Amino acid sequence: MPELLSIDEALDRILARAQPLTPEVVPLDQGAGRILAEAALAIVDLPPFPSSAMDGFAVRVEDTPGTLPIAARVAAGRPAPGPLIRGTAAAIATGGVVPEGADAVVPVEQAVEHGDRVEIGARPVADAHIRPRGGDVRAGDLVAEAGVRLGSAQIGALAAAGVAEICCGRRPRVAVLATGSELRSPGGSLAPGEIFESNRPMIAAALSPMGADVEVLPAVADDEDAHRAALERGLEADVLVTSGGVSMGPHDLVRRIAAELGVEEVFWGVAVKPGKPLSFGVRGDTLVFGLPGNPVSSLVASYVFVGPALLALQGAAEPGPTYGVGRTRTSLVRNAHRDEFVRARRTLDEAGVLLEPVSGQESHMIVRAAFADALVHVPRGGGEIAAGDSVRYLGLA
Ligand code: AMP
Ligand code: MG
Repeated sequence: MPELLSIDEALDRILARAQPLTPEVVPLDQGAGRILAEAALAIVDLPPFPSSAMDGFAVRVEDTPGTLPIAARVAAGRPAPGPLIRGTAAAIATGGVVPEGADAVVPVEQAVEHGDRVEIGARPVADAHIRPRGGDVRAGDLVAEAGVRLGSAQIGALAAAGVAEICCGRRPRVAVLATGSELRSPGGSLAPGEIFESNRPMIAAALSPMGADVEVLPAVADDEDAHRAALERGLEADVLVTSGGVSMGPHDLVRRIAAELGVEEVFWGVAVKPGKPLSFGVRGDTLVFGLPGNPVSSLVASYVFVGPALLALQGAAEPGPTYGVGRTRTSLVRNAHRDEFVRARRTLDEAGVLLEPVSGQESHMIVRAAFADALVHVPRGGGEIAAGDSVRYLGLA
């Protein structure tokens, strides 16, 4: 194996190849989780008119305190009433258009209504309970920047600002392929030497929330022709993710057959545990990730390397991976040569996130990993991280 790349070097090489796909315009209601390719600007002022923040009475401050005739009643959704006549009040609902001339709204709780008159006991401060036109955003101003991933608040903001369609990065088509003659799908029974296949559904589950449009291909045996056919099919996608068959054994065929099919290998081997034999290559615009078959290796590589590539393909300004910071509950031994991702459970105390490594840290132990919700990054270098020390981690979805 050639000299191992650091995680950052490997990520740099991946991201250098992950150029944004051609953007597309989609309706806003399909925008959750998508990445904006262009800044989205407000179509209207928000609020579009001076609106009442309370159910109450619109008044001129100078007319209060006092008892004022109710000259108008303003419901939400009604056009602007005429200007407020001096010495009168307008009953107004939350969200109603504040009449011109009014400079405060007195909440119903602070007023006493007597038929067509209202008694205002105390003088309100100027502008009380009036939301000025454009107080949230002005037409033409920025609502969400290019490169941001749209969450619920952004979707709400765009809708409120009148944006019906957004220009966002196309979701990458991702083909997921598992290799290994020993693999059987769960549901059947196992013959001697066989195991149930976990990596295709797992990788699909890891990558779908990152915007991948996943196609899961049938698993293939460790056979050259089967590999050739399956890889050729997978190479039609924007991203091909394989699992297994990238180590040094005689049955590890993925890299060789991929090379025969024209995949240019960018690197093979990263100083990371688990996941060392990760390979990455390109053919044309297709990115090709060869993940090691041990399930936890595939899991870690999906989060650390493939996820950021998918976000970069969609045009993310910050494709990640995005680390959180917490403290380890137990001491952690640092591997001399490889950065390690330790599976851990997160809890909270007054000081923040605490991370407790789960028992069973070997790379085949996917069930143990399933008791974890975080990958703690333990940088290489030997020695120990003491219990209570600060560490960074990736959240597992
Ligand atoms: P490989 O990377 O092909 O050498 O596989 C390493 C280990 O992971 C072997 O024990 C395989 O049986 C196991 N493995 C490979 N692919 C999968 C898979 N898709 N699901 C579960 N285990 C796998
Ligand atoms: Mg194998």
